[in-house]
Amino acid sequence: MSDANNEPNDGLDRRRFLSNGARALGALGVGGLGIGLAAGRGQGRQYVWQLDPDKCICCGNCQTHCVLDESAVKAVQCFQLCGFCDICTGYFPTGEYELNTAAENHLCPTNAIRRKFIEERPGVRYFEYTIDESLCVGCGKCVEGCALMNGSLYLQVRHDRCLNCNECAIAVACPADAYRRVPADEPTILKEAARKAIEGAKKTQRAAAGDGHEA
Ligand code: SF4
Ligand code: SF4
Ligand code: SF4
Ligand code: SF4
Repeated sequence: MSDANNEPNDGLDRRRFLSNGARALGALGVGGLGIGLAAGRGQGRQYVWQLDPDKCICCGNCQTHCVLDESAVKAVQCFQLCGFCDICTGYFPTGEYELNTAAENHLCPTNAIRRKFIEERPGVRYFEYTIDESLCVGCGKCVEGCALMNGSLYLQVRHDRCLNCNECAIAVACPADAYRRVPADEPTILKEAARKAIEGAKKTQRAAAGDGHEA
């Protein structure tokens, strides 16, 4: 799943994390497996539905219009783009709240975002925010909030859940015309800023490895 590496960070420090483009590629492989299985069950269909995150206006229909009881659309995190902010506007509401992880301080209605302390530098604390997809309902509230900062959170159809309907009910209801068919072997649409951040991380990684090649 593209940059959508929603699994926890497990002890990686922030600098290593920010430059770890390989994780993004690994996550792509996992997403591809889901698609491969879906295509196999689907009598050889070659295209799947996906939403363009640069068109999405977070209207809420991705949560409410999927034919599944729990939408196939989930929030994903591009760690290479995330600012690891203490005051995360994707995690905390813009109104009254206290700066702690108590449920009443969450913007997310299902408590699907995990906040984990990473490190502290003089005067600045850094946190990692990870989506628990089993709880995410695709409402897009965190995406809307994160847009006030780096915009590292965005929505994607998860193909381990999506039924690949002939006519996607969300696509019909989408006011931004954000849905389109994409090849099943390239089932994600990266946000443009995320694509650039991932490319930057890969360049940094190559430079650190000393191979001297620029993409
Ligand atoms: S229906 Fe369209 S605009 Fe609304 S949240 Fe989904 S992709 Fe975004
Ligand atoms: S607001 Fe967005 S960019 Fe900032 S920490 Fe939260 S998820 Fe990351
Ligand atoms: S705010 Fe909505 S889209 Fe974001 S993680 Fe929570 S349920 Fe998912
Ligand atoms: S194709 Fe069907 S299952 Fe997949 S997101 Fe659209 S409505 Fe939901």
